[in-house]
Amino acid sequence: MARKALRLIGVNKKYKITSREDFQALYDVNVEFEKGELVSIVGESGSGKSTLMNLIGGLDSDFTGQIIADGEDLGKLTDKQLDKYRKNKVGFVFQSFNLISHLSILDNVTLALTLSNMPEKEKIAKATDMLKRVGLETQLKRNPTQLSGGQKQRVAIARALINDPEIIIADEPTGALDSETSMQILEILKEIADSGKLVIMVTHSEKVASISSRVVKISDGRIVSDTPNKKYVKSEKTLIENKPQTEQNLPQTKNKKKVGKERQNLSFGSAIRLSIHNMWANRVKNFLMAFGVAIGIGSLILMLCFSSGIDDFIDTTMKSYSNPQIVTITKNSSSFAEMAEYKSFSDSDIDTLVEEINTYLANKGVKESRFRVNKSDIKHGVQMMTMFTYAKVIYNPNDVSVDYFDKDALKEAEQADSQLKDSNVFYLYTIPPYYSNSNVAQGKMVDETGGIMLTKGAAALFEDGNPIGKKMDIAFSYADTSTTPITYTNITFKDGETFNDDTEKRRDLEIKGIMETSIMSNYMVLYIDYEYFQQLIADSPVGERLDPNALFIETDSKETTDLINAFLASNEKYKGSIEDQLANLFSSMSSTIGTSLTIISCISLLVSAMMILVVLYMSVTERTKEIGVMKSIGARRKDIKRIFTSESFLVGVLSGICGIIFNLLMTLIVSIILKYTIGLTPISYRWWYFALAMAVAIVISMLSGLYPASRAAKLDPVESLRRE
Ligand code: ADP
Ligand code: MG
Repeated sequence: MARKALRLIGVNKKYKITSREDFQALYDVNVEFEKGELVSIVGESGSGKSTLMNLIGGLDSDFTGQIIADGEDLGKLTDKQLDKYRKNKVGFVFQSFNLISHLSILDNVTLALTLSNMPEKEKIAKATDMLKRVGLETQLKRNPTQLSGGQKQRVAIARALINDPEIIIADEPTGALDSETSMQILEILKEIADSGKLVIMVTHSEKVASISSRVVKISDGRIVSDTPNKKYVKSEKTLIENKPQTEQNLPQTKNKKKVGKERQNLSFGSAIRLSIHNMWANRVKNFLMAFGVAIGIGSLILMLCFSSGIDDFIDTTMKSYSNPQIVTITKNSSSFAEMAEYKSFSDSDIDTLVEEINTYLANKGVKESRFRVNKSDIKHGVQMMTMFTYAKVIYNPNDVSVDYFDKDALKEAEQADSQLKDSNVFYLYTIPPYYSNSNVAQGKMVDETGGIMLTKGAAALFEDGNPIGKKMDIAFSYADTSTTPITYTNITFKDGETFNDDTEKRRDLEIKGIMETSIMSNYMVLYIDYEYFQQLIADSPVGERLDPNALFIETDSKETTDLINAFLASNEKYKGSIEDQLANLFSSMSSTIGTSLTIISCISLLVSAMMILVVLYMSVTERTKEIGVMKSIGARRKDIKRIFTSESFLVGVLSGICGIIFNLLMTLIVSIILKYTIGLTPISYRWWYFALAMAVAIVISMLSGLYPASRAAKLDPVESLRRE
């Protein structure tokens, strides 16, 4: 006796309704089918026909009894084996066609082959051939929505046949078709059966049933009659040749076996392609979602650009102008008021400092053989703020006689002589040892022979922007030492004379150069040689030298400099140079800005992640039926997961790209705003920001996609197919 194509022995099926209650849909079903049969299953709605079809089709393995298909007991198969069974042994045709609307007709048919990772060419050849047989060779590129019901069902049949299954299951294949089209579809099914396959179809139509070779009637979950149709005539045409063409065309069976084993599942490439199709079908939604993520990603890069921009700014404008091996030390001010004070280092102060630094270095493990501070190597400097009353630097080309420290008098003189300018220099600095000729932008570096230099910021005060050759007055106040504790009152700069009033204690100093310094360039600073400055003071009848208030130590390395700077930072008595302090201020500002931007972009990334999660989750719900169809043609959980994962990957890529574009736009806008407000654009890119943006976007969307993907994979195919 020939082996039966399909045997059901004592099959019972119960559906769980609640945790306690079951509903029995099939009772003790015993039936056998042979190849070449065209079986009609008839029965009232709710009698259990679809339930039976789902069991036979391997969509539902929750039953008792035995279903033996092609020698295999479906109840005993693992999930993996069941997937294979659905992929290779059965083909499904549904009442509602269940074509995937975002794929072309050809792609709908090749899908089952894609799940087997068949090479592209072979796939297309095979699917085209199959579509030709059902009479659709001219419609390959069209979308299912453009087809009539009959045409759709032909596509579904082609899809069911593509893997050359032994059993075709058709659940009311003509239910949605008019009678003429029904007959055409039926004819195709008949041809399939007559070519040696087992075709089992559910039908309500008497007419359809009368054409089949056998009618099995089900009532309330039981087979109540099973009648062969004696008048059944085989058609002359057969839709399927005994051996499919393409298989014959394959060069070697050996080769095919190997290929079949290694690549029988959905490849990543195909998963990506399927996802691209689907994403294109939902392009508006996906683009909006990507745009949402892009905002987060864009601001993340912007934040990075800001931080690095400020770092770069500090680097190029501050650090590059100073020697990293020279440490500047000044005395600390504990209050804002104290900042105005001239806090000098006495000889014994310097002794203490040297000892403190050397002890610190020793404690930090710096060997004595390597570096110690020598008092004699320490260079001295003066750094004063002139914006307070004890020193004034004024451009007075017409040599107007005025008390610089008498505000009213100065104002009057200014009105009388428009060229006289008050307080146009805020800082008076002796030239620190880390400046060299390379810092001179115009003119020349001054030395102990005289002259002064200005920063660009100070030079800008001159109408023609070129102060070289012009003269400025320096005037020192000898006011009450309790408010301006400067020790060098009563110093005259007029040779040989002691001045008696404010107007006299000034001196013309020729501007010889313009300094390109550092951040100080933007401040109004007057630079003077230290020795020359001391000379001016010493030349006065008082004959004093001014104690330095800035000390410079040249170290052996950047590391030692860093150590000494760390010492200064840890010691309340001292601080670094104004440049260092400004650099620190900028750094702390940039880290504050950076932190707040990071928080904002993290929040927006979190929101983006939630959005992706929601959209992908909804997509699973929307595509439930599609997932069911995929499962019915043999997609494994893994394959479904893979498709959804590729989709979240693509969303990530898209978001990353949008984020980068969005960032470039934002940067442009922010740059323009900054340029016109603060005059600086502290924004720098590093190439890896884009890589990071891409990675973050991909990681975020893939993480958000995890849950929807696993939910999709877990969907029960029977339930999914039931969905309308
Ligand atoms: P038919 O296809 O013959 O119309 P079905 O096989 O779909 O009938 O359903 C048979 C019976 O099982 C019906 O009473 C139906 O309500 C019930 N049923 C089907 N699926 C489920 C399910 N998932 N949970 C509970 N009951 C179900
Ligand atoms: Mg049904």
